Amino acid sequence: MGKSIVITSGKGGVGKTTIVGNIGTGLASLGKSVALVDVDIGLRNLDLVLGLENRIVYNLMDVIDKTCKLSQALVKDKRFKDNLVLLPAAQTRLKEELKVEDLKWVVNDLKKKYDYVILDSPAGIEHGFRMSTLSSDEAIIVTTPEITAIRDADRVIGLLESMEIFDPQLIINRVKFDMVKKGEMIHWKDIEEILSIKVIGIVPEDPYITISTNIGEPAVLNDSSIGGRELKNIVRRLLGEDIPLTIYQEKESFIDKISNFFKREKKQ
Ligand code: ADP
Ligand code: MG
Repeated sequence: MGKSIVITSGKGGVGKTTIVGNIGTGLASLGKSVALVDVDIGLRNLDLVLGLENRIVYNLMDVIDKTCKLSQALVKDKRFKDNLVLLPAAQTRLKEELKVEDLKWVVNDLKKKYDYVILDSPAGIEHGFRMSTLSSDEAIIVTTPEITAIRDADRVIGLLESMEIFDPQLIINRVKFDMVKKGEMIHWKDIEEILSIKVIGIVPEDPYITISTNIGEPAVLNDSSIGGRELKNIVRRLLGEDIPLTIYQEKESFIDKISNFFKREKKQ
């Protein structure tokens, strides 16, 4: 039986979909079988990250409506074929139409066949977030080093606990190490302290990540991309390898004001 992991954030645009596509591809490249489920109904784009947008015939809602079988809706990856499949989101439907029980059976069916089932959660803390969380065994939270994203991540951590998903892990994405060094961006250690959860990756800002989505080839496959290399390290850590976090430059100062703000909020 496989394991289901939801990638979630609270705030939108922090890199969830990019990370789902890259972690999935990375796991498949290391020999695992992986199914990716796009739960961002109405706003799908996981297919673009994987370069599979022209191959979609059916989607998650068709499976639930029984318009097609689950196996018919799975789109095989160009590179890893049966070892990496995508269950696309419906682009023309409303998130509210999907029920928790429906998503749960789809995920459970996939877990019987795949080592990893990774869910791309929609932004926010509403229905789509709850549904994807309730269908998952574990959670990875993505944040960027901005107070708005960190605050939303903090809220999500609390909600996950109430849904009995304990020990979520954190990916800090789009870190600009030169700005951190100058004290212009919140340091990852402060983010770790504010959120009090385990950091499993610090992904640098890397223009190649945007290029990789445009060409439909996940950055994790490109060893010359710094973002891609760190995404590969995250995959290895998920598989239990002991790889230290890659920190490109050491901290010289940090933004006390912002971390104190969060500490105050937590106490209230
Ligand atoms: P979400 O799914 O959380 O809304 P996306 O994965 O769609 O976020 O990412 C939002 C945008 O940020 C995309 O254009 C993506 O290419 C870009 N992006 C994500 N991570 C990075 C990174 N580490 N460096 C540069 N650009 C990134
Ligand atoms: Mg997304």
